[in-house]
Amino acid sequence: MKHVHSGKVRDLYELPDGDLVIVARDTISAYDYVLDTPIPDKGAILTQLSLWWFDRLADVVPNHVVSTELPEGAPVEWAGRAVVVRKLEMVPVECVARGYLTGGGLKDYRATGEVCGIALPAGLEDGSRLPEPIFTPTTKADVGGHDLPMTYAEVEGKVGGALAGRLREITLEVYRRGAELGLERGVIVADTKIELGLRDGELVLGDEVLTPDSSRFWPADRWAPGRSQPSFDKQYVRDWLTSPASGWDQASGEAPPPLPPEVVEQTRAKYIEAYERLTGRQWG
Ligand code: ATP
Ligand code: MG
Repeated sequence: MKHVHSGKVRDLYELPDGDLVIVARDTISAYDYVLDTPIPDKGAILTQLSLWWFDRLADVVPNHVVSTELPEGAPVEWAGRAVVVRKLEMVPVECVARGYLTGGGLKDYRATGEVCGIALPAGLEDGSRLPEPIFTPTTKADVGGHDLPMTYAEVEGKVGGALAGRLREITLEVYRRGAELGLERGVIVADTKIELGLRDGELVLGDEVLTPDSSRFWPADRWAPGRSQPSFDKQYVRDWLTSPASGWDQASGEAPPPLPPEVVEQTRAKYIEAYERLTGRQWG
């Protein structure tokens, strides 16, 4: 197995036959920092959630999964967090769909009234529901860089009109499916990012899908536009980091301190709750 890439949360290896192994670590990020303290089982929980969604979305788009069996020679610690996948030629666009306005989309809307060239009605606030889900693609920045919003015309310019149309169609449908199912189970899927790749001329869903790392999940019963929404997964981490107890000053430019055990435990419980609510399955 050849190590080919390490991102913020996952490691990629190439097998002799050309397939890849994606291994999710237990790393968590907050306020743009990758924290030193892992959340036990997070990598496995998100991997299992992705696999569950891949199955549910199979009629929308084929996916890259080859096998969930550990490849020969893989360390036992990879169990549950490693997936053998088909290597794709990734499309150089991050495919984002938004059903609610927040984050970078809100910032752009406040500055221009648009997100990715799409004009939105006046008067929307942080957390507002959009009249309909929109496709808000971004560039795929290199490590350390920042993804930048793209207009649909820019996507067409980059990958061609036919492919751009398919990217938009698939992204919106994945979002709609996720949002609909989430809502039935008390979870607002505010937005989501997917990555698509080509294999023999066909678009295939790669990476991860509809996880708390690739999407914003909000508890539906606490949704109130006009402020930042509590997040399903990282709220304890954020609340603690910004409380006096952590002793951390976000403006200092220093990395956040290690998380105390109770924050780790509560955060882990939130990831499990998201998995259990969405899938209807019991964790472990
Ligand atoms: P981040 O997600 O933190 O912005 P990242 O995407 O580089 O950074 P990871 O998510 O840890 O970090 O790494 C996954 C990488 O693997 C991504 O670059 C993604 O495009 C790529 N990838 C996912 N699935 C496939 C696949 N089937 N074939 C080829 N590359 C893939
Ligand atoms: Mg990624």
